[in-house]
Amino acid sequence: MWRRLEERREPWDILIVGGGATGAGIAIDAASRGYSTLLLEQSDFGKGTSSRSTKLVHGGVRYLEQGNLRLVMEALRERGLLLQNAPHLVHNLAFVVPNYDWWEAPFYGAGLKLYDLLAGKYRFGPSAILSREETLERLPTIRTDGLRGGVVYYDGQFDDSRLLIHLVATAFEQGAALLNYAQVTSLDRGGVRFRDVESGAGFEAKARVVINATGPFSDAVRRLADPQAEPSIAPSQGIHLVFDRAFLPGDSAIMVPHTSDGRVMFAIPWHGHTLVGTTDTPISDAALEPAAQEQEIDFILETAALYLAKKPSRDDVRSVFAGIRPLAGAGAARTASVSRDHAIRVEDSGIVTITGGKWTTYRRMAEECVTRAAAVAGLPAVGSATKTLPVHGSHPDARAFGHLAVYGSDAPQIQAIGAPQRLHPELPYTEGEVIWAARAEMARTVEDVLARRTRALFLNVRAAIAMAPRVAELMAGELGRDAAWQQEQLAAFRAVAALYDIAALTAAGNPV
Ligand SMILES: Cc1cc2nc3c(=O)[nH]c(=O)nc-3n(C[C@H](O)[C@H](O)[C@H](O)COP(=O)(O)OP(=O)(O)OC[C@H]3O[C@@H](n4cnc5c(N)ncnc54)[C@H](O)[C@@H]3O)c2cc1C
Repeated sequence: MWRRLEERREPWDILIVGGGATGAGIAIDAASRGYSTLLLEQSDFGKGTSSRSTKLVHGGVRYLEQGNLRLVMEALRERGLLLQNAPHLVHNLAFVVPNYDWWEAPFYGAGLKLYDLLAGKYRFGPSAILSREETLERLPTIRTDGLRGGVVYYDGQFDDSRLLIHLVATAFEQGAALLNYAQVTSLDRGGVRFRDVESGAGFEAKARVVINATGPFSDAVRRLADPQAEPSIAPSQGIHLVFDRAFLPGDSAIMVPHTSDGRVMFAIPWHGHTLVGTTDTPISDAALEPAAQEQEIDFILETAALYLAKKPSRDDVRSVFAGIRPLAGAGAARTASVSRDHAIRVEDSGIVTITGGKWTTYRRMAEECVTRAAAVAGLPAVGSATKTLPVHGSHPDARAFGHLAVYGSDAPQIQAIGAPQRLHPELPYTEGEVIWAARAEMARTVEDVLARRTRALFLNVRAAIAMAPRVAELMAGELGRDAAWQQEQLAAFRAVAALYDIAALTAAGNPV
């Protein structure tokens, strides 16, 4: 990547600030149109919101209820394209809406038929009304008293940060240069200055157009170019709790359309665990490593207890993680009602800023943003090629690779490393994956491996902490680092991991 950067004598056609779903999607779109493309990420790829989602590739049943049919149809179409282009990372999942009131089956049944219709040829499976017995068959641990039946529908599920790493690889294959740990410190219409976070050295990169794709941080980056820039996003935090699979042992997810405060809540089987979330808490400032608030943890535990026969307690929580929605539109009082649609604006400074949207629609957002940015830069107009572009690792039957399925066609290379030893008895990750992450996936820190190349930190924080010393040792071998580096890495990882451990959060006096 550095070589690509050093060899570039001309300004880049398109320079992207931010390495989340939005930025990586733009890098693929721009590079595959033939534009020279550089992407700079201040931390690791996906360190922001893009590793902290509910992991759904969905049309958004909730937007259906809000009557936003255009948004739902666009997302359903993108859902279909993502399944086609990244079948190793996206799969079909059944969601059951349990019914405890007489009106729920006809009401949700009709709504979900409309959802099927809007999906058209991109439909994942037909929704259906379930009897009480059929509901219990799919959700053996659901609360039974008062249960009348349910409605089943289908949506997509994925692994967000793994998809992101594969998007970065795809952009690279299309000719883009992408750097993690490269923080943009100043910018204007002609380019940026950035800092190599590892060495501290400063660099300059010139560009025909600069795109600000920094999600929740986009206002801070806009202010680097124009200190007077008005706020443009309304940040809102969402958290998830992760439990053992025993809380949801089947293959179906639970979807609760209306919690006590009018939100949607999911309980989802994910990587052999149960993921429950989310919340929607307006916040004032976006942090790179946000912390779950006590009231959010309580709210999820209380809501889960209404639907699960065995009520989860704080001791059952294996991990908690928080993410920040970069919702377009500042100053909204209730963020749950702010549209998940995206906004692209050309600033007075000449920079193009893209905010909002969803993981599901990253490709569509990127297409629109590159077309707009190319016009600003006066680049020759070229159409987008990403609708049919396979994502790196795309493989029609990746399930055959067992737990390495998420690597798709890279899985045989990981097997060939010949290090199948597991790092922890409670998680499937192997030493070979750590070596692969350092060699082939630009992992630079222990956290990169445990949080985003594998998902250990998100699944089981204690197990992740126990794995860390061996991960540090393996990485040191690959990256040529010494014992002092390993110690620094362990200390840094433990500090981050404390934010995923609810006992540590509470002990630290987490805000209510
Ligand atoms: C709780 C929650 C659940 C969600 N669930 C879903 C879901 O199930 N399905 C779905 O489709 N969508 C979901 N979303 C939405 C989706 O996750 C986001 O829309 C998407 O991840 C936003 O990506 P982004 O690239 O815009 O932002 P980010 O992923 O935050 O990326 C921005 C990047 O910019 C970098 N950056 C900031 N400043 C600088 C700088 N100065 N220099 C260089 N880099 C910089 C940051 O480090 C960061 O990595 C969810 C969101 C939340 C919060």
